Amino acid sequence: MRFTWAFIPTLKESPADAQVVSHVYMMRGGFIRRVAAGVYNFLPLGWRVLRKIENIVREEMDAAGAQEVLMPASIPAELWQESGRWGKYGPELLRFKDRKGSDFCFGPTHEEVVVDIVRRDTKSYRDLPLNLYQIQSKFRDELRPRAGLMRGREFIMKDAYSFDVSEDAAIHSYNAMYGAYERIFQRCGLDFRAVEADTGAIGGSRSHEFQVLAESGEDAIVACDSCGYAANVEEAELVAPKQPGIAAAPDAEAGSAPREVSTPGTKTIEQVAKFLEVGADQIIKSLVYIADDRPVMALIRGDRGLNEIALKKAAGASQLFLAREGQVKDALGTPPGYAGPVGARVEVYADIELEGATGAVCGANQPDMHYVGVDMARDVEVKAFAPLRMAEAGDPCPRCDGHLRAFRGIEVGHVFYLGTVYSEPMGCTFLDEAGQERVMAMGCYGIGITRIAAAAIEQNHDDGGIIWPMSIAPYEVEVLPLQMKDEDVIAAGETLYAKLKELGVEVLLDDRGERPGGKFKDADLIGIPLRVAIGKRSLKDGKLELKWRRGGEAELIDVGDAAEHIAELVRAERERLAGGC
Ligand code: ATP
Ligand code: MG
Repeated sequence: MRFTWAFIPTLKESPADAQVVSHVYMMRGGFIRRVAAGVYNFLPLGWRVLRKIENIVREEMDAAGAQEVLMPASIPAELWQESGRWGKYGPELLRFKDRKGSDFCFGPTHEEVVVDIVRRDTKSYRDLPLNLYQIQSKFRDELRPRAGLMRGREFIMKDAYSFDVSEDAAIHSYNAMYGAYERIFQRCGLDFRAVEADTGAIGGSRSHEFQVLAESGEDAIVACDSCGYAANVEEAELVAPKQPGIAAAPDAEAGSAPREVSTPGTKTIEQVAKFLEVGADQIIKSLVYIADDRPVMALIRGDRGLNEIALKKAAGASQLFLAREGQVKDALGTPPGYAGPVGARVEVYADIELEGATGAVCGANQPDMHYVGVDMARDVEVKAFAPLRMAEAGDPCPRCDGHLRAFRGIEVGHVFYLGTVYSEPMGCTFLDEAGQERVMAMGCYGIGITRIAAAAIEQNHDDGGIIWPMSIAPYEVEVLPLQMKDEDVIAAGETLYAKLKELGVEVLLDDRGERPGGKFKDADLIGIPLRVAIGKRSLKDGKLELKWRRGGEAELIDVGDAAEHIAELVRAERERLAGGC
């Protein structure tokens, strides 16, 4: 492609609403344009990137035995009423009516539609397993669409759904998808981890998120430094400590009851710790939540974070919200800063680290008062001890002797064993070998195509712009003739451009009359992995300048066999990314 023909509207300024690097560079590089909050146009460069990602996904899905279909974006409400989700899915679901007043939604995910396909035409165990996938625009009316393609409202997803005769067979399908995902993200050139993830209301242990490691990621993950264990912090298993994880405060008296002390104006853990001259790890943090309709109290060590998902599980709740100030007062008669478990008439759930703790500090359920010398076993009526705190860097690994390290991640894919949650209510059944009717076991598998593009940039960029992995770059090589008034330079650019195309390399020729500085700036911004600069002076010596966008020294190569040399480098890089696939 010639730059002068192409539609690549680069910008000098960053868009005012852009918060993350991928958004800034995709706007400035002319990859995308905003239409509405979380809704974008994909311009030619952006669309080329998405098509490349799609093709990798398509190849690997096909190779794993899945078959591509296309389902509609508009879904009649009846299907969602059958599964029970019409009433449950909140405001993220975009609902609309047709001219007859019938309810529809714009699909945020397609379990109902695919189950409807399969239940109509798949009747026998001989037709299974079956795995159907599509690549399509989804709509989710996200509360805060931000960060460009990282969290859009309309975005492109690959969603696949497997149907099997039994749980065992479904796990086989799950594992095949897991393997395909590993190859997909490897081929996209991404540094990623598959992590154990929350299974929500569905339960069971089969759910993995594929996380691209990047500082700007929304998700916190932990991974072992010596074995392959990795999990979303919300899902990470905690190892029960051998000793109580709370150390007795030095002046704690071994009395027969906790002692009330006045702690005026100390609402936060930091304030209490400072006032009483104890460590945050000697204080019990008491948090009041509304679990379904009842207040519950969660206890964790003062310096820890609560894992709400773990509390929800421990309390057996389907909804869980942090109690508002008024709700805390109603339950305990005190404002939140002074809540505590001693004598509290609410269900108390305590982190396993607190079991057996003595000499601790906690709120006394009265304004400006705390207890010291608290003995968990003696003073607190605990409904259950459970692993309630968030895993942290340095925690022991639940699988080996190693320790966990913390990372930030961007969730680009999710594989999930569904069992019969959709197939049961929607009557998706088959006849087994004995002629018995049975419900199919399902799995669902999503990949955010548009989010991959953003995640690739979050992970691969510098101050000048994007550094695309070659497999998903809009072009593989960019040729920059630097003096567009010099006929030799122009001719060398044209020849190289033509030859590279002939050799099957995807090449962009910057044939604009821009100054070299402007061309280099745009090349850095757009991020094509291999750059060839053709300058008057080196051309006189029969040389061109070759440079990888990811860095390293520029290399002078002979004009004579430049095309073959570059094509060879491109081939090697393609193979490296396809590595072992
Ligand atoms: P998140 O927790 O980020 O909202 P999710 O758990 O809702 O994601 P899934 O329902 O598992 O996501 O969807 C499958 C994939 O679709 C995700 O792994 C992600 O890559 C992508 N995805 C989900 N929501 C969005 C969005 N708003 N914008 C872009 N991609 C998205
Ligand atoms: Mg979501």
